[in-house]
Amino acid sequence: MCNNAHGTHNRGWGRPTRGEAVKFIVTKWKSIGGKAILLEEGDITLVEADAIVNAANSRLSGGAGVDGAIHRAAGSSVMTELDGIRSRMGKCAPGEAVVTKAGRLKAQYIFHTVGPVYRGGEEGEPDELASCYRECLQLAAERDLKTIAFPAISTGVYGYPMDQAAAIAVREIRGFLDQPSSVEEVRVVLFGEESLRTFKQALGE
Ligand code: ADP
Repeated sequence: MCNNAHGTHNRGWGRPTRGEAVKFIVTKWKSIGGKAILLEEGDITLVEADAIVNAANSRLSGGAGVDGAIHRAAGSSVMTELDGIRSRMGKCAPGEAVVTKAGRLKAQYIFHTVGPVYRGGEEGEPDELASCYRECLQLAAERDLKTIAFPAISTGVYGYPMDQAAAIAVREIRGFLDQPSSVEEVRVVLFGEESLRTFKQALGE
């Protein structure tokens, strides 16, 4: 059971999520005021949310993993918009985020955030990863959005250990949801059962 003093706990085993390709709502954590963290296993490009977060690189140039999948699914308008952003601001530093429209995704916006490359964890990576989550949640609040979906930032090519990344993600999302804002639902969409299990542990399951 959820051991957070503010929370109640729901299970949604086997319940399909609004007919999407995401398999199930596996764990749902509610904070005071009915806000929720949802952990799901599936492809984030198929999720419906006000904002979808992309784990981008500092050149904002697209790439492998979730970045490539998001650009393929969203279409070329997103890269065109990023070209404009890049020409104005150059690179995007780790921990920061930029905003584009969402092209063909079922979302209003994509928040492209640059996670840290894991170098052992002693070179500021935890702060940078925490900043990715905070920045994106703040961007959502500034736009008065209700729902936002995150992948597990930095845990693929950038090599962040899943358990450490999950602990940071859950801490930052919980902390944010405890504050007043428009954001009511944060979905963390995980690729594979192992990632899902690790995030469930971080959530206190
Ligand atoms: P990074 O460079 O930040 O590590 P990656 O895209 O390599 O980004 O991986 C981040 C996480 O996203 C990994 O856990 C990976 O398994 C996961 N992932 C890859 N494709 C998708 C997708 N389509 N939907 C959700 N998660 C994905």
